Amino acid sequence: MRRKMAAGNWKMNGLSAQLAELDSLGADHGSTSCDIVICPPATLIVPAVARTQDSPVSIGGQDCHTEIKGAHTGDISAPMLADAGASHVITGHSERRQYFHETDDTVNKRIVAAIKHDLVPVFCVGETETEREANITFSVLDKQVTTGLQDIALEDLSKLVVAYEPIWAIGTGKTATTEQAQEVHQFIRSLLEKAHGSGFAESIRIVYGGSVKPDNVAELMSMPDVDGGLVGGASLDAVSFSKIVLY
Ligand code: PEP
Repeated sequence: MRRKMAAGNWKMNGLSAQLAELDSLGADHGSTSCDIVICPPATLIVPAVARTQDSPVSIGGQDCHTEIKGAHTGDISAPMLADAGASHVITGHSERRQYFHETDDTVNKRIVAAIKHDLVPVFCVGETETEREANITFSVLDKQVTTGLQDIALEDLSKLVVAYEPIWAIGTGKTATTEQAQEVHQFIRSLLEKAHGSGFAESIRIVYGGSVKPDNVAELMSMPDVDGGLVGGASLDAVSFSKIVLY
């Protein structure tokens, strides 16, 4: 049985006062059977880690650089996130791919860096609306998954989480239907099986992201290959994120 995961991506939202949301989240879910991860902006990682020390909430970064250190103004490396107390990191989010020109190859290097520094990579993949309409969703995802995970040894991938995030569903209020989500999650699992065998594929969590809200979460999570959610907007409010955790 794969343990469910609810990960919140706060994106570029949140000043110190936002950290209060973590208190109620932690208090609500003392004994939950779902892993809870919040990825606040980098400025809040250290206080967020301190604030969640006695709570089931883990803290993650929203991206990491391919390199450990160097002349990369504005970037953050995997060891810096680990040093700040983060346990997870989102890699390959579509906003990073779209606005910061991240590619399947550089996402692969980010995943390698994350694993090397003991961070759980939450590896995002997903097609655009145009790609879905052109019926190339599976080939787009095949390339993203295959290149994103290339040359990474099986033993290094045990903690991997894959997030299927159809780009047309992110922040739009449009959600994939349960059938669309299940079909793609099953396809991604088949790619993992082809690469590393069925034991591995069955153990890896594939979470869904794209306008997950309290009122659509139960339906999505009822699908056999949907192992949780990566949540943007609805993770900013502890009441609504709690409902997603508890669905
Ligand atoms: C996201 O940014 O990863 C996301 C899924 O956002 P939203 O839930 O707001 O669509």
